[in-house]
Amino acid sequence: MPFRKTGGRRAGVSRLAALSGFWIASALQWAEVLAQELRIEHVTVVSPERPGALQNADVTVREGRITAISTESSGNNAPTRATGAQTLDGRRLYLTPGLIDSHVHLSFIPGMTDEQERAHPDIARTAREQIPRSYLYFGFTTLIDLISTPEGMKRWKSHDPVPDTYFCGGAALMDGYPMNYFPKPARYSAWPYMLIEQQAVEALPPGAKAAEHSPQAVIERMKADGAICVKTFFERGFGGVHDLPVPTPETIKSLVRAAHAAGLPVFLHANSDEAQIFGLDTGVDVIAHGLWNVNDTPAPDAPTPGMRSILDRVIAARVGWQPTIQVLYGLQDLFDAGFLSDPRLPRVLPRSLIDWYGTSEGQWFHDAVGGDVAGSAAAAHAADSHVEVARPDLSVPIARVKAATRYLAQHRARLLFGTDTPSAPTYANPPGLNAWLEMHRLIDAGVTPAQIFEAATLRNAQAVKLDHEIGTVEVGKRANLLLLRADPRQTIQAYDEVVKVIVGGRVLDRDELAADPRFFASEITRELTAL
Ligand SMILES: [Zn+2]
Repeated sequence: MPFRKTGGRRAGVSRLAALSGFWIASALQWAEVLAQELRIEHVTVVSPERPGALQNADVTVREGRITAISTESSGNNAPTRATGAQTLDGRRLYLTPGLIDSHVHLSFIPGMTDEQERAHPDIARTAREQIPRSYLYFGFTTLIDLISTPEGMKRWKSHDPVPDTYFCGGAALMDGYPMNYFPKPARYSAWPYMLIEQQAVEALPPGAKAAEHSPQAVIERMKADGAICVKTFFERGFGGVHDLPVPTPETIKSLVRAAHAAGLPVFLHANSDEAQIFGLDTGVDVIAHGLWNVNDTPAPDAPTPGMRSILDRVIAARVGWQPTIQVLYGLQDLFDAGFLSDPRLPRVLPRSLIDWYGTSEGQWFHDAVGGDVAGSAAAAHAADSHVEVARPDLSVPIARVKAATRYLAQHRARLLFGTDTPSAPTYANPPGLNAWLEMHRLIDAGVTPAQIFEAATLRNAQAVKLDHEIGTVEVGKRANLLLLRADPRQTIQAYDEVVKVIVGGRVLDRDELAADPRFFASEITRELTAL
């Protein structure tokens, strides 16, 4: 997709002003800015709880919260402006809630292992500084990391600026998915909330106590650690692995009971028919993936009868459902030779990281997935002497998830917006940009822009019980807001037309958040030449 053209004298000058503001503003001034009043004037408010837009509104923010919303018709109620208030001219702009991605993973740099990170500290440092900005760049002011710990959150929040971030504790079954990907014995300390079932007690890792890993104990521990939700898993494996242990229904029912008693919603990793039925049977709140592993192939637009019986239960039980279609594209795109020269990447990834992805070391996950594909092809055609390492053909699972998503959108199911960025150690799920790509996949699948807007704001906030804080533009809520050039209920292009990102009342210019300042400098040069 080409860049938005922003030629013309006015755009060039304002862009320059924005950049110089960036250099002048310092973290020290930030506390002062927060105490100041912020007024967004003459703006069109678009918020999911409102049936229509509120035209020509003035929105006041003080100490990070929305304190007043007034229109000219109710001019008498408009609060008098405090001296020294920061004002933004909202004419021809839309003010919306900041977006929420209810499924991200923030511990790792996409496509980089821990060892590789240690071997390339400069690339890694620059990447870790940029990643929070890249989410903000595409309008995400709140993130839910579905598998983290207080230590992981502390590291993530040490960056500035950073979206508001919350976490779920990962209650994986001991040695099941995704713990199986971590080397022993380090996996046991990396997964403090793992579940241990009765039958595994004899094979306990050194130092582990089964009593600390019952559903009840795990929930108590993550709640005390500050988690706002629980992530658990039903996955027998993929890529040649099909025999991973999965939890019993009794274990997950106990987990759900304990979680609900503690006020925590439960997310289940489930992308197969068997797994989603398991989730519906055990009473989880959110199914954290689309339905793409089933035995039949759907017609282009319609799920199979087997899929439909699952989706009808999802609709009836009002279970949250995250399509995460981009997960499948993120695997396919590893095999697209042009992916790393996509002109959108320098907006969200430092050049040094993009270049590293192109090295043979940076291609490790591509080679691993290619090996899996070649391995299964070799097994299927043992007589062939040549097996090409080809791009995996995911057209059938993609058709399934799109058919399922379309069906749920038509039936007004509780779709949630979650990207699962990055869904694997793939560099083809770039932070921030991946969410914008997911929106395109959802549109493709028949979800409307208005449904995407609601899913990424109010529905996500409700799913993690943060709707008293965020998800709408209402008095009393935290001022996580976006100023956009287009109405996001009409077009998802609006999310690439972000003018300002406001986090807790702090106003960020979108251009400040881009990964490559040279990229914007060159755009400004072009604009200056055009003056
Ligand atoms: Zn995930």
